[in-house]
Amino acid sequence: MDAMAIGREAVMLCDRIWRNARLATLRSDRSGLGEVPDGIVACRDTRIVYAGATVDAPAGLDAADRIDCAGRWITPGLIDCHTHLIYAGDRSHEFELRMQGASYAEIASAGGGILSTMRATRAASEEALVESALPRLDALIAEGATTVEVKSGYGLDLDSERKQLRAARALALRRPITIAATFLGAHAVPPEAGTADYYIERVCTEMIPAVADEQLAEAVDAFCEGIAFSPEQTARVFAAAQAHGLKLRLHADQLSNTHGAALAARFGALSADHLEYTDLAGVLAMAAAGVVAVLLPGAFYFLRETQRPPVELFRLRRVPIALATDCNPGTSPLTSLLLTMNMGAILLGLTIDECIAGVTREAARALGRLADAGTLEAGKFCDLAIWDIERPADLVYRMGSNPLYARVWRGQ
Ligand SMILES: [Zn+2]
Repeated sequence: MDAMAIGREAVMLCDRIWRNARLATLRSDRSGLGEVPDGIVACRDTRIVYAGATVDAPAGLDAADRIDCAGRWITPGLIDCHTHLIYAGDRSHEFELRMQGASYAEIASAGGGILSTMRATRAASEEALVESALPRLDALIAEGATTVEVKSGYGLDLDSERKQLRAARALALRRPITIAATFLGAHAVPPEAGTADYYIERVCTEMIPAVADEQLAEAVDAFCEGIAFSPEQTARVFAAAQAHGLKLRLHADQLSNTHGAALAARFGALSADHLEYTDLAGVLAMAAAGVVAVLLPGAFYFLRETQRPPVELFRLRRVPIALATDCNPGTSPLTSLLLTMNMGAILLGLTIDECIAGVTREAARALGRLADAGTLEAGKFCDLAIWDIERPADLVYRMGSNPLYARVWRGQ
């Protein structure tokens, strides 16, 4: 920050100041949401230089652009840390069949499921994938999202996975948003691969090295489940990812307890996601390794699950809890972080503070981006959501309304 002397007063110039605001800073060194009843946020270039109480602001802090927030609430920009936003095709027909009583096996044998999305995604151009994802991304942006994670996993061959990851990264050229791309080659076995072991070999020896070489993704994810890949196959994927310097995430224990949470912990993964069937040993392993629990209430709701993730154990053992949409065409066609928070409270039993932290600070932690995002603190990117609400609880309480007043991405 510039500090220049004008007369005897030091003036600290920044680009923009949001003043007369109530802040939910989400700072982890404060209790609750780190609330500040009369606060300001000051930004220089793309980063916050001050966020806190007006009375504590550095003397002489000033900017040409001073925005009066009229007492509105400012939170960190929202973060969706688990999506499958890039895909082609439409699965609403499957939904119709399901509502008429068809089973998953019947839908799959009629050509539905992940493989139907794979066929459509393989057939689509990179530009078509970007175009079809933009309305979904815009829905997230309209509710204040400033960072969105996007997984591949519907290409399931090297060229198609590359195309999906390029399309994910291209979203950041089309909208003011931070995109975190994750390689999810180990999502399902493509029909031409024959066996899961053969396909995992291709993932480890061809796909992960290429993705790392071309810097198409910052993390690797896998679907560890009875209907997908075994813990042993997942461990091979993780070892290959680590050898190439990529971060790890895992779809774990969603439909059964395959001890995926413990596996994620053993490899030092950033997060384990879903976790409906995770047991105490899995929770303890996550706590010891600092793995974030990413809960996905949209999929829980859409699949009419009844087995809830062990929220009380996560709380007791201080496992950080994040929330995400899991936006995908098959099991969570959800593009609202506000509704995700409501579902987190109603369906999973999270507190208001846990829900809001889950789509800000803890979501940033799940992406390994807490140094840059997730709280209102000096040094982080100036990503803000400004809300027309009386209390932060309004963000979780309402269903189907959007009180976003303004959204700021990197100071703009
Ligand atoms: Zn997912």
